[in-house]
Amino acid sequence: MNKRAIIFLVFAAVMLIATSVLASTYVGNSNTKKFHYSSCRLAKKIAPHNRVFINSRDAATELGFVPCKVCRP
Ligand SMILES: [Zn+2]
Repeated sequence: MNKRAIIFLVFAAVMLIATSVLASTYVGNSNTKKFHYSSCRLAKKIAPHNRVFINSRDAATELGFVPCKVCRP
C-alpha cells in the first residue's frame, strides 16, 4: 500500500467518526431551555453563547431541557 492510500484511509476513518458523533449529539438552548437534534433547522439558529451540546436525551431532560416540537428529539 502506498503512502497516499494510507493517508486517504485515515482521513476517511476520521470523517466517519466525526460524522457519527455529530449525528448523535443533541443541542440545547440555555436561553429557551429547549433541545434539538443537531440537524434541526432551529438548532442552527441558536446563538453560539446559548448553545449547549448534550450527548443523550436523558442528560437533556435531567438538565431541565424540553424537546423541540419541530424535530421531536
Ligand atoms: Zn428542533
